[in-house]
Amino acid sequence: MKARIIPIVRAVRTTLPPGRDLVAPPEGELLDLRQRRVRDLRISVTDRCNFRCVYCMPKEIFDDDYAFLPRSKLLSFEEIMRVARIFVEQGVEKIRLTGGEPLLRRHIENLIEQLAKLPVEITLTTNGSLLRKKARALKDAGLNRVTVSLDGIADDVFKRMNDVDYAVGDVLDGIAAAAEVGLAPIKVNCVLKRGANDDQILPLARHFRHSGHILRFIEYMDVGSSNGWRMDEVVPSAEVVARINAEFPLQAVGANYPGEVAARWRYKDGGGEIGVISSVTQAFCSSCTRIRLSTEGQLYTCLFAQSGHDLRAMLRQGAGDEALRREIAAVWRGRDDRYSEIRTAATVLPGSKVEMSYIGG
Ligand code: SAM
Repeated sequence: MKARIIPIVRAVRTTLPPGRDLVAPPEGELLDLRQRRVRDLRISVTDRCNFRCVYCMPKEIFDDDYAFLPRSKLLSFEEIMRVARIFVEQGVEKIRLTGGEPLLRRHIENLIEQLAKLPVEITLTTNGSLLRKKARALKDAGLNRVTVSLDGIADDVFKRMNDVDYAVGDVLDGIAAAAEVGLAPIKVNCVLKRGANDDQILPLARHFRHSGHILRFIEYMDVGSSNGWRMDEVVPSAEVVARINAEFPLQAVGANYPGEVAARWRYKDGGGEIGVISSVTQAFCSSCTRIRLSTEGQLYTCLFAQSGHDLRAMLRQGAGDEALRREIAAVWRGRDDRYSEIRTAATVLPGSKVEMSYIGG
């Protein structure tokens, strides 16, 4: 059996006996070493996916022999809730459920129902394959919005990208189901890999103009160690905007809120808006407000991290809320990473980076 591709996890610092809390809560605002606030918590609820997107979970590695996490290692919904609640107390305003494919996690709507009691926006990123079946339950549970990944509008291109022969029509039907129950506006994310699906830029733009959904193009990133990333396969956002602008004139629109990752562009003729996420060519580390909780309860402050902080051990050793709060605060306050700002075409880190399917996109 193949080993899972995960980085070494740093040992827990906390040494309190089970059930014991530290005394005072952290004072003041939670700022990291670069004066960034924590605002967005991304929670990966499964490391499994029913797609094998070539840039994320390539078949050669994530095959029948791949050792996905056993159920006992996954954080339970109760454990996720405890961590989420503490993060919300520390300033988190938005929680995104992701994976793997989050809709593969059984009874995910039960978790959403619990999370929805917190004063936060709850969103979810999905490949859309189970949306038709689940949209109503997700909405009823309290999900606010959904982002659907779609890497092409031509069936043959999309099937090559997802590598499991999944048809575009079924994802579009999932998007329609989400819109029908009121999970709109829906963001539709397309990762572009040069030579693989960059011929889909204009067809996707044509399809989603006037739909009310927001199409966003994401630069292909060097996440993990399994996708064989090369800088020359990245399609810069500036090129995407130029190609669309040549057919449908665009104008820039300001950010909805500070730290928004997508740069927004509006069709001048009123056809709606698109977004571009330039994680490689215009890194946005300086305004990053995101923190990630992996499927097995490791906390990561960066998508490109090589090590996490083990909250599951704390949870299962009986740490009290105050100890968890202090640990979380210490992790954020000690954050200094800015990988994307210092990346070069030849960036090679010793050891392996965490996989996107494990940490959650
Ligand atoms: N299964 C869900 C989905 O398909 O959206 C959620 C998990 S997926 C890892 C989250 C997002 O990460 C998707 O939009 C996916 O396209 C994106 N992603 C995965 N690998 C990436 C990479 N190397 N560069 C940029 N985006 C990537």
